[in-house]
Amino acid sequence: YRPILEVKNLKKHFGVGRGQTLKAVDGISFDVHRGETFGLVGESGCGKSTAGRTLLTLYEKTDGEVLYDGKDVHEISDKNRLHYFRKMQMIFQDPYASLNPRSTVKEIIAEPMEVHGLYKNKKERQDRIYELLEEVGLNRDHATRYPHEFSGGQRQRIGIARALALEPEFIICDEPISALDVSVQAQIINLLERLQEEKGLTFLFIAHDLSMVRHISDRIAVMYLGHIVELTDSERLYEKPLHPYTQALLSAVPIPDPKVEEQRSRVILKGELPSPIDPPSGCVFRTRCPFARDICAEQTPKWLEAEEGRYVACHLYDPQFFDMTPEELNQT
Ligand code: SF4
Ligand code: MG
Repeated sequence: YRPILEVKNLKKHFGVGRGQTLKAVDGISFDVHRGETFGLVGESGCGKSTAGRTLLTLYEKTDGEVLYDGKDVHEISDKNRLHYFRKMQMIFQDPYASLNPRSTVKEIIAEPMEVHGLYKNKKERQDRIYELLEEVGLNRDHATRYPHEFSGGQRQRIGIARALALEPEFIICDEPISALDVSVQAQIINLLERLQEEKGLTFLFIAHDLSMVRHISDRIAVMYLGHIVELTDSERLYEKPLHPYTQALLSAVPIPDPKVEEQRSRVILKGELPSPIDPPSGCVFRTRCPFARDICAEQTPKWLEAEEGRYVACHLYDPQFFDMTPEELNQT
């Protein structure tokens, strides 16, 4: 058994002129298991969308590996590309921007089928489009209409139908609910969960807010300035975040259960997100971290397994440097 996706020290840098480099993704590693929902969370500008696009080779990688089913997607020959990229699809944050306004819903969903030469028979294709519309909670009467005739939530359903047209195994959902009304968000989440169950899909779910991925994710990686700073199953992450940045993100999320609220250490972020063109030395989070010590400017934190299946990049959890927990430090 191997993970469906293995990301190894992936980097995506952009040249931004005058010899400067924007390190949007600067060495991230994680596995996504078949059938799970893996959340990738961080503030805007942390590199999560760039990571998603680089996983699908929409951007060329700068370094590292992206293995899909054990095969490096950035090394796939043109001959085999269609075969691989049929299995990997993406749903975008702004469904309106990603749907051609001059195409009918039918044309939008048929497009990937054409590219991949599926359902060449016209009747067969039409039936498949109707089936897809029904699967996402729309119906065949919608097929001849245009994107502007739909609400935000319905447009996201069209985007999902298009992503499903090729019967993918793995879907990157890039903030698919961020642009929607709160009341519609839950509907789209429910739809994605149902489709996942019915079709055995694997999701990489990108979000800027931990509250959005809480219920849908099995495991979550928290990104900050091009790095993953913590990775664990969502239950333990919400119960007891380890990394000061995760603690800060969760401090901003109201928790209805007062017992949990009490136990949670509050961390308030100071300052602004530094530029990924000139990231801080050592720990990239140190300019905003209330626990920062000299060592944090001098050395990059190691990727530590703090507990079984829980990973964190912070010196506080390295017994080489600290013998106090962040809670104890918080008291001092
Ligand atoms: Fe804060 Fe230092 Fe941990 Fe970075 S390594 S998160 S600066 S305590
Ligand atoms: Mg984004």
